[in-house]
Parts: sequence; structure tokens; C-alpha cells
Amino acid sequence: MVHPQPLPDATPLTIITGFLGAGKTSLLNRILYGDHDHKLAVLVNDFGAINIDSQLVAKIQVDNTIELSNGCICCTIRDDLKQEVLKLTQREDPPSHILIETSGVSDPLEVALTFKYTPEVRIEAILTLVDAENVLAAAEDHRVLALNQIGMADLVIVNKVDLVDSEQLQRVHQYVQRINKKARTIDAIQADVPLDILFDGGYDPDRPEQFGRLDIHTHEAGHHHDHAHSTHATIFDTWSWQSGQPLSLKSLQKAVETLPTTIYRAKGFVYLADRPDEQALLQVVGQRSNLTFPGESWVSTPHSQIVLIGKAGSLDTGALQQRFDQTIAGQGGLSNLMETAFSWLRRS
Ligand SMILES: [Zn+2]
Repeated sequence: MVHPQPLPDATPLTIITGFLGAGKTSLLNRILYGDHDHKLAVLVNDFGAINIDSQLVAKIQVDNTIELSNGCICCTIRDDLKQEVLKLTQREDPPSHILIETSGVSDPLEVALTFKYTPEVRIEAILTLVDAENVLAAAEDHRVLALNQIGMADLVIVNKVDLVDSEQLQRVHQYVQRINKKARTIDAIQADVPLDILFDGGYDPDRPEQFGRLDIHTHEAGHHHDHAHSTHATIFDTWSWQSGQPLSLKSLQKAVETLPTTIYRAKGFVYLADRPDEQALLQVVGQRSNLTFPGESWVSTPHSQIVLIGKAGSLDTGALQQRFDQTIAGQGGLSNLMETAFSWLRRS
């Protein structure tokens, strides 16, 4: 079937994708805070019961940030995504550009195809972030996902290049090249890239079909046509933990450093006894954990919210509950930390 051409005044739409922890929210915030003339609207989809990413999106865009929870925009809530995008285009003061941040486990092809019969929008580009430190290891476990995310990219941003040596970086570039010869690539630290290239476009509406054909020969079982994310619902599990009691930094460090390696990603806000007035932000990606204080004071009652994403069937929720319950600080007084950033490596 021939799909309708985008209308002449179709709103450009950019899809930001990349595996868990690759830096999608950082890139989104760079764009939102950046110097450009676009009037942006943002849709954020997070894999997990609590949408941490939407809370991390720059507060300046609060009216134009739409949180899509209760499912994944590449499969279970594709229709919601389409409806939200259409509503944006029908606003009295519509955005000049729409950004979609997918969850780290979604297939950007499915997100792109959601708009195949929606001439009100025109897909401008698919941007894929790659974590230079973790992508090769992650791709061993999640080959289809890596192929889909990198294979569909118009621009591949190789992020966190400061964390790897030149040999690793070269291996990452070769890997990306093997999957996608057409995409432009750029190296970045903390998702810092020139904004011009992000709005450059490059999306070829015929590529999904080409990619789909190629797919049959290169993908193993579970390729996207029988997706129903089979690809992720059965590959990933998520679990979250919340508490209104302050946590001990030492115990939290211990809990995080010894997390099983089947947990790929953890993120969330932490209410720390050692620094109770400010939100701490916890990010666990691969073996690396960071706890930082972005300088936000609490808007509501202080509380911790941590979301974990791991291999399906590997999350022992009882043990995890106990692990995080043990981080709650004892009766000791609240101290005050001087340091504002901590980095821990997993020891498992
Ligand atoms: Zn999905």
C-alpha cells in the first residue's frame, strides 16, 4: 500500500533512541536548553512503573512535555503516541518540532511506522545514542535491539567517549559501521553535540521497508515483524522501590556496588540522610554508578524512587526489596556531606 505523503506544513518529528543508559535524557536536555529557534514539544516514554526520565527533562519545557507511561510506545501504546502527537499538531499554538524520547528497550522502527499514515507529521530523523563503554557488551545480550536501534539511525551519536580508550572507540565505530553504513556518526561526551546537526534531517521514508527486508537475513529469531515486543516484554523486567525515609550513603553505595550484573540499569531520585535538603540523582549504567546532586531542592515531601531494569526473570524482588530497605539510615543524626558527586564501580 502506498502511504500518504506528509502535508506541506507537516510538523517535523525527531525520534531519540538508544539502549538503556546511553544518554537520551541528557541529549534531550541539551536540545531543550540549547540555543535554537524551534518551539519544541517533547514526548517521553520510560520503561518502568515510575517515569524518572520525564522528571529529568528540563523544567522550562514543563507545559510541552508529555509523559507516556503504562506501556511502550513501540508496541503496547502506539495508539496513545499517535493521538498525543496529533493533539500537539492541533493546538492553537502548535510546536514547530516534536521530539520523542523512546525508552531504552524500544524499537525505533516501530515508532517511526506508527506515523506512516499520519501526514500531519513528517519524520525528520532518528537519532541513536550509543554508549561507547557498554554498547559492545550490551549488543551481545541484545543483538536484535542493537541492530534495530543502530540500523535505523540517521545519526549515531557515540556517547561517553571520554570513558574508553582509542582501541575500544575504534571497535565501537567498526561495529556501528557494520550495522549501518549510511548513518552519520559523531563522538560526544555527555551527549554534547552541535545542535545544528540534530535538526538536519536525513530520514528516508523508504528505509523502513528496505531495512525490513534486510532484517529477515540478518536478524535471529524475534525480529520485529513478530515483535509485539516479544523483543522486550520477554527480555526485560522492571522493578521499583520507594521510601520516604532518608537513606544512608554508605549503605546505598554497598547496595549499588553489589547489584547482580543481570540488572542493566537503575536510576532514580534519592533522599539521602547525609544531605537531606537536596535531591540526589542515582544513575547505574553497566558497571558504573553515579550519584550526583543536580541542585534541586525537594518540591514535595522528600522521598526516594529508584527504578531497576534487568534481564527478564532475573529480578528477585524479595531480595531487592530487602537490599534497598537496608539502605534506610538508622537513628543517627543527619550529617552534611561536602562532596557533590560519587562514582562507584560494581564489584560483582
Ligand atoms: Zn515496545
